[in-house]
Amino acid sequence: MRFEFTEDQIVWRDEIRDFLRQNITPELQEEKRNSDPISNGPLAKAFLKKVEEKGWIGIGWPKEYGGMGETMIKQFIFMEEFRSAKAPTIGMTLTSLAPTIMRVGSEKMKKEWIPKIVSGEIDLALGYSEPEAGSDLANLKTEAVIDGDEFVINGQKTWNSEGHIATHEFLACRTDPDVAKHKGISIILVPINHPGVKVLPIHTWGDLRTNEVFFDNVRVPCDNLVGNLNEGWKYAMMALNLERFDIGSIADVRSLLTETIDFLKETTIDGKILSKNIMVRQRVAELYAELELCKWLCYAAASMIDENKFPIKEMLMGKIMGSELKAKVGDIGTQVMDLYGQLRQHSKWVPLNGDLERLYRMAPFYRFGGGTNEILRDIVAQKGLKLPRSGVR
Ligand SMILES: Cc1cc2nc3c(=O)[nH]c(=O)nc-3n(C[C@H](O)[C@H](O)[C@H](O)COP(=O)(O)OP(=O)(O)OC[C@H]3O[C@@H](n4cnc5c(N)ncnc54)[C@H](O)[C@@H]3O)c2cc1C
Repeated sequence: MRFEFTEDQIVWRDEIRDFLRQNITPELQEEKRNSDPISNGPLAKAFLKKVEEKGWIGIGWPKEYGGMGETMIKQFIFMEEFRSAKAPTIGMTLTSLAPTIMRVGSEKMKKEWIPKIVSGEIDLALGYSEPEAGSDLANLKTEAVIDGDEFVINGQKTWNSEGHIATHEFLACRTDPDVAKHKGISIILVPINHPGVKVLPIHTWGDLRTNEVFFDNVRVPCDNLVGNLNEGWKYAMMALNLERFDIGSIADVRSLLTETIDFLKETTIDGKILSKNIMVRQRVAELYAELELCKWLCYAAASMIDENKFPIKEMLMGKIMGSELKAKVGDIGTQVMDLYGQLRQHSKWVPLNGDLERLYRMAPFYRFGGGTNEILRDIVAQKGLKLPRSGVR
């Protein structure tokens, strides 16, 4: 076992660091702070254009689809460096949905859709959850019925986070109601500006706008089917696993802890430096250790993928640990800063530009995003530790 990068990986990391040093400006970071967490302003879009020009959009994608055909470790280094620098991130369309289309889509679909996804012309929202289908996703009811060479879609999605900014839905629909629930689902790409699609906002505590989306006799060509009819459950899980791995990367939170430590070292309350308080030191040291552990867990999973293993248990543990650490850093971080920790962005005395306070409000979402941690723990128990199925499901 080696806990260090190879020469080649160090060169790669340093190239990314140089790029970020040159292209992350204070103006860009300010724009990011003032935007919805998943929306990109003009500076972020210009930044991502430069990332595309570097050829870094699909690092792990095959070369014929504009990718670099690189290892998972290199993809993870990329993700970590971008998050550490608080750079605008490459969205879920590119990190989990396009790779799924690449694996299972027809040649025709790949040729037509992938270049438009790379160029940003097409952006996908994840249309899985419904009012009666969250953890129990196979319960979804939005139906797609074939009529000639079109699907006719009716139903409702909820928690559709990119519905207001994406061009299309990556929509999970019921295409066969007469088989076991998870066997009658298909994935269809649906243009959001089509007649019959209605998007309504849901505003959350963490500043993230998500949406309810309604489909009323929406007609799309059968060519928009991803992979095979009624095999959508498999594809949805494939995309979810990629999304979960992404959530495990929490270099942004490690950066925030470093900034918190700097604040504690230089801030005095009632004549006492915060960093001398024994309780503060112990809590910060504990967070540091756990963040390091999470980082290495994710790198271990990445290296297993490069060895053609499928580290389901390790990837899920990374997502569970990463998402819970986000909440823990937000919680403990704002506490150890004393009353300063409760101030919001734009307040005169706010520390860290309000980034930690925002993390406190945003963090609970990650425990749900990509499936709740309770469900994922159950999968680790069953698939990873080979325990019998739980009595609940
Ligand atoms: C801000 C936000 C953004 C989201 N964005 C998207 C998106 O873009 N696209 C999308 O499709 N979905 C999205 N989701 C939905 C998210 O994936 C679901 O919220 C999640 O899967 C849980 O489903 P649910 O909300 O219906 O909760 P439920 O399934 O009702 O669960 C409620 C609680 O019960 C627990 N629970 C349920 N079943 C079990 C069980 N068998 N064993 C143990 N515990 C159990 C859960 O862990 C949870 O704590 C988003 C959610 C939020 C909050």
